[in-house]
Amino acid sequence: MKSRSASSTADSVTNRIESRYCGRFAPSPTGPLHLGSLVTAVASFLDARAHHGEWQLRIEDIDGPRTVDGAADAIRNSLVRHGLEWDGEIVRQSTHADRYDHAIAELRRLGMTFRCRCSRSALSGDPIYPGTCRRNPHHDGEGAIRVRARAIEIAFEDRIQGGYAQHIERDVGDFVIRRRDGLYAYQLAVSADDGDGRITHVVRGADLLDNTPRQLYLMQLLGLDAPIYAHVPVLLGADGTKLSKQTGARSIEAHPAGENVWLALTLLGQSPPATLRGAIPNELLDWATRHWRIDDVPRTTAITNFLALC
Ligand code: GLU
Repeated sequence: MKSRSASSTADSVTNRIESRYCGRFAPSPTGPLHLGSLVTAVASFLDARAHHGEWQLRIEDIDGPRTVDGAADAIRNSLVRHGLEWDGEIVRQSTHADRYDHAIAELRRLGMTFRCRCSRSALSGDPIYPGTCRRNPHHDGEGAIRVRARAIEIAFEDRIQGGYAQHIERDVGDFVIRRRDGLYAYQLAVSADDGDGRITHVVRGADLLDNTPRQLYLMQLLGLDAPIYAHVPVLLGADGTKLSKQTGARSIEAHPAGENVWLALTLLGQSPPATLRGAIPNELLDWATRHWRIDDVPRTTAITNFLALC
């Protein structure tokens, strides 16, 4: 499916060279923060603050059916309780329809999109789209919109995980940017927001590592500058599945915020001094900003049995 070699091909993505830093934490409001998402938020926050950069909070609320009432407020309150204060107004993807429509129009103008009426069942089993509607394009307004996969390799250097590459046609295939129900696909929204929103650094969970070439591909087609990426390990529960809001991961609200931040720092390999055990989040985060070393974050995509490590 994917290659680990990030050979610098002609299609490698050129990252920004400017010194400005703008990071973001981009939770979907599908439930409250859990320890895994707190680890990601802490890493993203510390990397921004250690670079004297800006840190945005972007609520990814484009998937109406999956949005849980009150979850965005719960996430916001939880971030504040853990000392993770963002800059500026909260950004909400639900207000960005114009940006996404514009991106789709641009891809269409480039001849890079087609309508797809394949049913889910017609596609089952094969992760790579077989190209049915690409060969027989529909011209009316029904169906999903897919972007055409070109035969190019997209390679990038992740600050934690190292070199990563995918061949867009072979490993990914034509992918959906607007769903048949009209919702914008995550790949489109995140690419438009990171590129158009002038995000320079993305620090997020390693479960999204294999999404990154698709996003770089879209940014390349749209002529947007790509951010620099760092994918932090995700936490796996005792049963080996990813902690997620949907699986009802242990609530961090039941524990003192300082304890949660301590745990997050330890999982990120930052070894806070024993004298700070029991400190409030701001004290821990001050120390961690001054001592942030992304090189000490474990170079793995997942951490299992994480409570035993703390
Ligand atoms: N909204 C995604 C999530 O909550 C994260 C997207 C991203 O950081 O690119 O998992």
